[in-house]
Amino acid sequence: MSEKDELMYKCIRCGRDTSYKELEMRGGRIKCSHCGYRVLQKKRPPIVRRIKTD
Ligand SMILES: [Zn+2]
Repeated sequence: MSEKDELMYKCIRCGRDTSYKELEMRGGRIKCSHCGYRVLQKKRPPIVRRIKTD
């Protein structure tokens, strides 16, 4: 799995998430898979970090 597969986009109209994979399957165009709106915000998946506290 590449980093790209982890990319998520959030639709600014309906607020739902569309994954990069979904966009790729739909021809690679930025478009909400739920409402069809074309303005999506890039989201970063939460990165789990281990922080030493001792
Ligand atoms: Zn939408």
